Amino acid sequence: MSQDIYVVIEHIQGQVQEISYIMVAAARLLCESLGGKCIGVLLGHDARDLAGDLAADTVIYLDDPALAEFTPDAYQRVLAAIISECHPRLALLGQTSIGTDLAGILSMRLRLPLVSHCQRIEAEGDSLRFVSQICGGRILAQGSLTPSTVLINMVPGGHKAEAGRSDRAPEIRPFAPPPLDDLRISLKCYIEPPTGDVDISRERILIAVGRGIQRQDNLPLADELAEALGGVVCASRPVVDQGWLQPTRLVGKSGMKVAPAVYIALGISGAPEHVEGMSDSQVIIAINTDRGAPIFNIARYGAEADVLDLMPVLTQQARKVKEVA
Ligand SMILES: Cc1cc2nc3c(=O)[nH]c(=O)nc-3n(C[C@H](O)[C@H](O)[C@H](O)COP(=O)(O)OP(=O)(O)OC[C@H]3O[C@@H](n4cnc5c(N)ncnc54)[C@H](O)[C@@H]3O)c2cc1C
Repeated sequence: MSQDIYVVIEHIQGQVQEISYIMVAAARLLCESLGGKCIGVLLGHDARDLAGDLAADTVIYLDDPALAEFTPDAYQRVLAAIISECHPRLALLGQTSIGTDLAGILSMRLRLPLVSHCQRIEAEGDSLRFVSQICGGRILAQGSLTPSTVLINMVPGGHKAEAGRSDRAPEIRPFAPPPLDDLRISLKCYIEPPTGDVDISRERILIAVGRGIQRQDNLPLADELAEALGGVVCASRPVVDQGWLQPTRLVGKSGMKVAPAVYIALGISGAPEHVEGMSDSQVIIAINTDRGAPIFNIARYGAEADVLDLMPVLTQQARKVKEVA
């Protein structure tokens, strides 16, 4: 087994996904302690250029028309071949639809341990410890990694994506994929989600409401705050699931990925599936009655307060500032 850390690079429709840069950032840091190399694994077709800004030492690139877009059938076969041949210390995959799909299959097929919802990995001499967010992010679980190849599903939040980007292109090492002519799954087409009244991914100020808003009747308080600040209201999943806001306002794993200048999280706990969609916001402000809520771990500013009390006060203050300006 080598001390190299392999990172499975996710891309969708020609875009490298943010989680890939976050994982490269995590791998680079670990490699400094372990002395191994940070190796990206890029599967695709005519996709070599996607490796251009990855801060990896090397990118193993496998080119085949069957790898143009993700399918679990083709990807797991190729990754199983690479991991079996190269025996990396760790193989990092995103805690995403793609990454979780693959990690389970690979773990079973290669009989390798799998750590899910992993936020950080820390080196202590030769041994490695992981920190995982469990129970919707409420509990941080720590544990040691076995001294074999381990598969990791990583959540965002532990590292900044910028640290996984570089102006210097990595070395590309082509790798011949195993035969892929008998696959059972192929991608027929992408179905884009319907566009809504606003595109929250383009907004500079987002007022995000969660279950803490308690009732649909309270939403106008958030609308008023958004109007006073020149922003737009978005939400966590419970709010959208109850039909209080359109699905196009959902932030997170199954919704939109946003990176506004300011993200105000009102009564949102900070579950990993929500954080996945908003952790790249420049300034996160959290308001929550529970001082242990995980959202405070990623917020720059926070208030332990009832959103129903604080929203009208914030709105009033924002209006006052506007009047003066
Ligand atoms: C496969 C999958 C995909 C998912 N995708 C998404 C996704 O895309 N987006 C998403 O958001 N979730 C998603 N989820 C759900 C996610 O796991 C969480 O359940 C959800 O994010 C929790 O939303 P919340 O923070 O609003 O609610 P909760 O976790 O219930 O938190 C409510 C918070 O409000 C606080 N609170 C209560 N009352 C008040 C008050 N009066 N004032 C201030 N604070 C108050 C509480 O202390 C608590 O922290 C997904 C889950 C799965 C399994």
